[in-house]
Amino acid sequence: MVSASSALQLYKNVKDYIGLESYLNILPKDLRFFVTRLRIFAHSLRIQTDRYSTTYTPRIDRVSKYCDKNEIEDEFHFVINCKRYRNIRVKYLNPFYYVTPSMFKFISLLKSVDKQILFNLAKYIKEATHIRLSCDYITN
Ligand SMILES: [Zn+2]
Repeated sequence: MVSASSALQLYKNVKDYIGLESYLNILPKDLRFFVTRLRIFAHSLRIQTDRYSTTYTPRIDRVSKYCDKNEIEDEFHFVINCKRYRNIRVKYLNPFYYVTPSMFKFISLLKSVDKQILFNLAKYIKEATHIRLSCDYITN
């Protein structure tokens, strides 16, 4: 497993990349929106919201409330690991990315220039975002 700081560095690279690169040319407008939205929606994940809110939570405690994995709710968790979206993950993502996940695989997914992979990623983000916005927190 990569260290938190190196993962963060890699992640910064992806964010820069997502902002500029090929998916814009590969995906039709309606699906492009959802890949772009991962960046925008990222601000709705706990990793961001609990950073500034009046209920400030230390980074390590900003865990997903949508599953019991006790992982920080960031984009990696949202796309690759959260159990809440397992059904749509199986539907749209290659198991290569989530069976033994890593930050490197996640980045390669986001950087993909394969049209089908990008289509499916966009559909995943679309459906997972919908679930995330409409479901209640898990009750333990
Ligand atoms: Zn989760």
